[in-house]
Amino acid sequence: MKVSWFHKHGGPEVLVCEETRQPTPGAGEAVVRVRAVGINHVDLDVRSGTSRIPLTFPHILGREFAGEVAAIGGEAGPLKEGDRVWVSCRIPCATCEFCLTGRDNLCERGGYFGMDLPGGYAEYVKVPLSSLQSLPSQVSFQDAAASQIAFGTAWHVLINRGGLRAGHTVLIQAAGSGIGSAAVQVARLAGATIFATASSDQKLQRAKALGAHHLINYSKENFAERVLDLTGGKGVDVIMEHIGGEVFTRSLECLKMDGVIVTVGAHAGEVVSFDIIPFFRKQLRLVGSKNASTTELRTVMGMVAEGRLKPVIHAAFPLADAAEAHRVVDSREIFGKVLLLP
Ligand SMILES: [Zn+2]
Repeated sequence: MKVSWFHKHGGPEVLVCEETRQPTPGAGEAVVRVRAVGINHVDLDVRSGTSRIPLTFPHILGREFAGEVAAIGGEAGPLKEGDRVWVSCRIPCATCEFCLTGRDNLCERGGYFGMDLPGGYAEYVKVPLSSLQSLPSQVSFQDAAASQIAFGTAWHVLINRGGLRAGHTVLIQAAGSGIGSAAVQVARLAGATIFATASSDQKLQRAKALGAHHLINYSKENFAERVLDLTGGKGVDVIMEHIGGEVFTRSLECLKMDGVIVTVGAHAGEVVSFDIIPFFRKQLRLVGSKNASTTELRTVMGMVAEGRLKPVIHAAFPLADAAEAHRVVDSREIFGKVLLLP
C-alpha cells in the first residue's frame, strides 16, 4: 500500500510517499481502507519534533479518518466488510476511572492514531473493532474526516468546559482556524451571541456566514477594547482561547464578572503572566480543556449527519502531496480543514 510517512523529524519535506506492506487484522481488529484523512496542527508538531513525543520511525501521521471496512479479523461486530465508517481518534483503555465515568478523553493508557499508533496518512489502517463508528450514507468521507477533531473539540471546550448556553455571550479567538470555525457553529447552535476575531476581513465574513454576530479584525484593532465597547463595558460570559501569549492575557480584560476562559492551545506563547487582583475580584475562572470524549464525538458526528453542523474544508490533496498540504496548513492562509485523500 501507499503511505506518506517520515523517517526523521524536520520540515514538510521529510514527508515522503512510499510503499509498505498492507496491515492484516488480528482477532477483534479491522483494516479500514482510508478515503479521507484530516490534517491537524498537532501533525505538524509531531513531524517537526516540537511535540517532544517519542516516535518509532518511519512514522505515519493522521488522527482523524474515514473510509470503508476492508477486512475484519475473527468474528465481525455490528459492522461488516464494505461498510462506511469513521474511526474514533483514540483507543481508550475502558477500565480506568475516567473511562468508567464517560470521560475517556482523560484516559491515561489509551493511544491516539497518528501518534502512538499508525495513522491515516495511508491507504489502509488497522484499528480495533471498538473504534469503528458507522458513517451514514449522506455524510461524505471528506466531511467525516474534517469533523471529528474540530467539532468534537469545539463542543468539549464550549459546552462541557465553558458551560455555554442560550443567552450567553462568547468570544471565539481565531474564528478562521479549523477549530475556530467549528466553534462558531457550535456556539450558534447553543443560542449564544458570538464575537469572532480573525486576522482578515475575508475570514471574518466567512465567520459571519457561519453564524458570528460581531466581527473583530485583531490585526487592525484591540479586540479586548472592542469587546468591552460592544458589551457596554461588561465583557463576555465565555472565551474560547487557543492562541496563548498576549492573546491569552488580553482576553482576561474582556471577560465578564464570573466569566470563564477555556484554554485549549498556546502556539503564540506557552508561558504567560497575568494580574491576579482583577482575576479574583471579578470572580473569573480559568479552565483547561483536552479534546472530546467518545460520547461527545458521537454527538457531533450525529449533528453532522443531520446537517446541523457543516464542516468547512479549505482544500484536499492526494496522499503523495502530504508535504505540500502541511505547507498550506502552516501558512495559516486557510479557512477550515485541509485533507489528504489516500
Ligand atoms: Zn481509560
